[in-house]
Amino acid sequence: MPTTPLDALRRHQAELAAIRQDLHAHPELGMTERRTAEVVARQLESLGIEVHRGVGGTGVVGVLRNGRGNRAIGLRADMDALPIQELTELPWRSRTAGVMHACGHDGHTTMLLGAARYLAETRRFDGIVHFIFQPGEEGCGGALAMLEDGLFERFPCDAIYGMHNRPGMPVGEFAIRSGPTAAGGAFFDITVTGRGAHGARPEASIDPVLTACHVATALQSIVSRNLNPRDPAVVSITKVQGGEAYNVIPETATISGTARFFSREVAAQIEAAMGRMAEGVAAGFGATATLDWRLIFAPTVNDAEQTEALAAAAASLVGEAKVARDKPPGMGSEDFSFMMERVPGAYIQLGNGDGASLHNPRYAFNDEAIPYGAALYAAAVERGLPRE
Ligand SMILES: [Zn+2]
Ligand SMILES: [Zn+2]
Repeated sequence: MPTTPLDALRRHQAELAAIRQDLHAHPELGMTERRTAEVVARQLESLGIEVHRGVGGTGVVGVLRNGRGNRAIGLRADMDALPIQELTELPWRSRTAGVMHACGHDGHTTMLLGAARYLAETRRFDGIVHFIFQPGEEGCGGALAMLEDGLFERFPCDAIYGMHNRPGMPVGEFAIRSGPTAAGGAFFDITVTGRGAHGARPEASIDPVLTACHVATALQSIVSRNLNPRDPAVVSITKVQGGEAYNVIPETATISGTARFFSREVAAQIEAAMGRMAEGVAAGFGATATLDWRLIFAPTVNDAEQTEALAAAAASLVGEAKVARDKPPGMGSEDFSFMMERVPGAYIQLGNGDGASLHNPRYAFNDEAIPYGAALYAAAVERGLPRE
């Protein structure tokens, strides 16, 4: 009876935790992950894995072939940190002021390195594994940068898998669902242009501030009146800017925010309604409005077949009772979505135990989770690319 990937990776726990803590102490913001990428590349090279540096900026791809099979599985981890000042007192806390691995991407990177080590040493699969280390996940366009650099043309994959740690869920448990699992996200800016005047002479003005207030109110009817109630969506206005002085009506005002949705069709509906309302409301005040809409994250949609494959791989490690297959969709976003629009795949959550939430300055990745995440990647390969 061969050992399971989980047994094997538990034996590497201490070494992998040391890699994780080193990455944690040296966090790098999205698209500047030069040291991290070099650590990853050298680790892969030390395992005899073919390494491609500079894929989509600071991205790294490792290629491991075994047997004669031509089927390929892509395993993806993200590498970037966040502009947050760390408030933990851990010995491996960030040594870079104002930058912190507060989303656990140091853990994701380490788990994928653990899977690479296990698969390179045991080789109990037939086919090709692509280890995809992605830069700039936190709204920095890293997934798109890799895709534009020909990721899937250079490294074709039949299936891709990704994962994220989840505080509040016990270590050793997994959660996944088929279909939409994380929202897509857009950022928008609406610029209202009127006519500036003295604050005491409104009749000489076309007030862009008052107009922007009405636009902001009108936008709240998009979700409630324009969308199908079965399509969950959010329109949040998070920034309002206009004017510099108490006695000056300015020329322009801007309102900005984010929208969340679970399909590109709903995104297009929100964008169209937003543009129409902004222009129409502004016209009523004699002003003009322009919308700048930017899709930052596609909706994350799990393929049904790959969801089942990944859930079954997880259950083979920890048992069915510790794999939830009905995780409710979250309104947060994930740019692995852009890769899953090209290749059928699945994205799973793994427990990080109790502790501070993601993006919190006291967040701490739980090193006990490393063997589980690494073993899941490994099991997905062994089951997805079986030896005859
Ligand atoms: Zn994050
Ligand atoms: Zn994250």
